Amino acid sequence: MAKRRRSLNRLPSLPTIAVEILNVFSDPDAPVQKVADLVQADPAIAGKILKAANSSRFGLKCEVADLRHAIALLGKAKVTPLVLSFSLSAHSLESEESIRHFWLRSFVQASAAEVVGLLFGVKIASECFTTNLLTGIGQLGLLSQDADKYIDVIRQSQEGTRSLADIEREVYGSTHREISMEILEHSGLPQRCIAAINSLVSDSADQQLDDETQRLADVTGIADAFARYLCDTDTGVALVVLQERLAKLNSDAINVETLTTSVQKRLDDSASLFDVDPSSLPDPDELLEDALDQLTEFTEMMQDGSRPVPTELVAENGRLKMQVDHLVKQTSTDALTGIANRAFFDRRLTEMVYQCLRNSVQMGVAVIDIDHFKKVNDAHGHLAGDHILKQVAQTLQDVTRTDETVARYGGEEFAVLLDNVATDGMIIVGERLRSAIEKLEIDFEGAKIPITVSIGVCCGVPTDGESGLKLFSMADAALYQAKQTGRNRVVADTSLGSETADVTDESSIS
Ligand code: GH3
Ligand code: MG
Ligand code: MG
Repeated sequence: MAKRRRSLNRLPSLPTIAVEILNVFSDPDAPVQKVADLVQADPAIAGKILKAANSSRFGLKCEVADLRHAIALLGKAKVTPLVLSFSLSAHSLESEESIRHFWLRSFVQASAAEVVGLLFGVKIASECFTTNLLTGIGQLGLLSQDADKYIDVIRQSQEGTRSLADIEREVYGSTHREISMEILEHSGLPQRCIAAINSLVSDSADQQLDDETQRLADVTGIADAFARYLCDTDTGVALVVLQERLAKLNSDAINVETLTTSVQKRLDDSASLFDVDPSSLPDPDELLEDALDQLTEFTEMMQDGSRPVPTELVAENGRLKMQVDHLVKQTSTDALTGIANRAFFDRRLTEMVYQCLRNSVQMGVAVIDIDHFKKVNDAHGHLAGDHILKQVAQTLQDVTRTDETVARYGGEEFAVLLDNVATDGMIIVGERLRSAIEKLEIDFEGAKIPITVSIGVCCGVPTDGESGLKLFSMADAALYQAKQTGRNRVVADTSLGSETADVTDESSIS
């Protein structure tokens, strides 16, 4: 404590209105009138409350022009977190980029907590929002005191081997979490909320909490992992932690995907109201891909022992490691057919382009589409269609080598990826796939259903990072030709980049 006083001559403080609103928040008997009095005294916040009341976020039935009326309609549970957010965002608005990023991160965390908290009711959601908005208060405080100094601390922790907490302790005498706790302990925030924030620190994980506090701590843990996933750089580890915490919640209503969509919607609705800029956040699909790439790399590092892996992934006797493997597999597999999905195919395509580019060898793509599948569905029903998709997937898998990628690319469309393949070889592969499907004897509930596929193949030596896309769209164009010229046939296009690939005439066999 004495050391902190030496390094931090004054603790960062909350804006006055934030402190006052927290006092109202922690007093269940405080009348909503008291909130109105507080807000009235701050014209900027009063204006924002009116704007919020009339925004799509709350969807009140009639337009409200009077502040007291708006506050009465919204109720204390909704107004309190609004006032707190407005007072904190005003605090960060005048500031520089890094502070705005931390503000956005706090807001992401609060919104995630609100989404999860809604599973337990509106009042709890409001408490979850408020609590989580305040978890980053120590960091916001350090940044507002001397942004450059704190940014340097963060950079050191990202570059070196020492943890952020160790460096913070050396520079400030306290960690940002300890500073958060110190600020909040004097803020009037209910003890339950403080205990939930405190539970984020791992060495307090064993503490016995009552049911209400435990629930708030669980939601806070999820929201904290979600903010780390969306806003920090170690998205892979964050995704594993997030999955683990969501699993504990044991709710079908919420998973990473639904949580991401709901939080993004909230951010879009709140952008102008809360001075956050969600456009600086990553695209959800790219984020998931990035996280999986990081996890795949960690999985390889774990297997070959080449580099140390974050302790969070190896903790608990490899349970998390199993989860990583499971997660990578789950997000790479098509649920219906069990073969690779489009995301996996796209990742492999990119990897192969760079491999073949380095070694100057040809790679090949085959795009396969079931003929007249709509008619099959219409004649035999959707279940028969699904059965056929599984059989086709299995057959394509059976007639390709294990090091060749077979994926379900879309509805009734599949794709195969090969490296080190010559033009003739690609046509032979295509023909092997086509004839294997033609020979399939599919039987569904007594009906024999003949199936054929059309295939477009293409191969060439990649010339740059765009070659994968080029190859795929050329194979797709060849597939179109196969459909146009009678179906149940293979059409090849081998003209990727006139100088680099064997250029032969479009050829077809059936
Ligand atoms: P073409 O020979 O020109 O490819 O004709 P098509 O009927 O196969 O092509 P189209 O693209 O018009 O129709 C594809 C059909 O595939 C439509 C859709 O009902 C069916 N389909 C897509 N995904 C699934 C699925 O998951 N299950 C089932 N049963 N059918 C699917
Ligand atoms: Mg199709
Ligand atoms: Mg089709």
